[in-house]
Amino acid sequence: MGERLDVLRLGYRRGRDPRITTHLALVARALGADGFFLAGDEDQDMFDNLDSVCDRFGGEIETGHVSGLGHLKRHIESGGVAIHLTMYGEPFRQAIPKIRRDRPLLIVVGGAKVPGDVYKYSQHNVAVGNQPHSEVAALALFMDAWFGESGSERQFPDARLIIEGVNGGKIVHDNSVEE
Ligand code: SAM
Repeated sequence: MGERLDVLRLGYRRGRDPRITTHLALVARALGADGFFLAGDEDQDMFDNLDSVCDRFGGEIETGHVSGLGHLKRHIESGGVAIHLTMYGEPFRQAIPKIRRDRPLLIVVGGAKVPGDVYKYSQHNVAVGNQPHSEVAALALFMDAWFGESGSERQFPDARLIIEGVNGGKIVHDNSVEE
């Protein structure tokens, strides 16, 4: 197993961002993140929702509400590497070989407005194309390039719902039910 990888979402607004941020958290979980942290408004319902996905589909992801810049600074001061995803960064395929893999990684994604200090503190500002698009797409493409197949093809232990079959319809086994 490699070093820990966490995702930090800055500037969360409970009124406007729950759906896209849930998608961001689901992508983080599905592609191999160990933790998903929110800065901005608190939203326990979103974390509960994520716990419920882990409960049914297996695995676990740590969640928590943090102060954005404080969390970023502490991560770096404790020896971690921070990658800020931004359209103004270095192209991701070019940046990835330069990022050390022997340290815990924090991937930072922005919200409506990203404080300038995030660019300054992060050791890597990384772009997934130089057009504005979505934090979900940026995270997914970055994590796929970072982990390769071991990200999207990973197994999740202790799944309660296992979905089998593709063409001939789906069989759903609920492992929590005695057969
Ligand atoms: N209007 C916001 C701004 O000016 O920063 C853009 C917000 S964008 C929807 C939210 C986040 O998605 C950004 O902070 C960044 O982390 C990520 N993002 C969007 N486009 C990106 C790109 N081309 N490369 C890397 N990350 C990107």
